[in-house]
Amino acid sequence: MDENCLFCKIAVKKIPAKLAFEDNDVFAFEDISPQAPTHILICPKKHFAALHDATPEDQALLGKLLSVAAKLATERNLQSGYRTVINNGGGAGQSVFHLHLHLLGGRNFHWPPG
Ligand code: 5GP
Ligand code: ZN
Repeated sequence: MDENCLFCKIAVKKIPAKLAFEDNDVFAFEDISPQAPTHILICPKKHFAALHDATPEDQALLGKLLSVAAKLATERNLQSGYRTVINNGGGAGQSVFHLHLHLLGGRNFHWPPG
């Protein structure tokens, strides 16, 4: 845990959030400023700032983020169109430096993204 990290504090429930999923490795919660009717952030409990900070030993954990996204998308009937996004680095719009996968659904999305 990184004492100064917002999402680490959510992981240990020092800061409240609306949880959508939790197990030993992963937690997922509703985004405070949703950009779509469904907007969930899926995070490893282990602190990484971004994808490039993970190591080969983290491969299963990274895969699990996608599995949880698929499970939540199915539970919420989003199969006709949903988006999974990881912003890495400020240049890509990352604002919280604890790796998280956005699951967005419930509206149409444009491509290419902005
Ligand atoms: P990023 O810009 O790093 O890819 O995404 C960070 C996301 O975290 C943003 O969509 C933002 O709305 C969300 N966020 C920031 N602070 C909080 C918070 O305190 N609680 C929750 N639930 N979401 C937050
Ligand atoms: Zn963290």
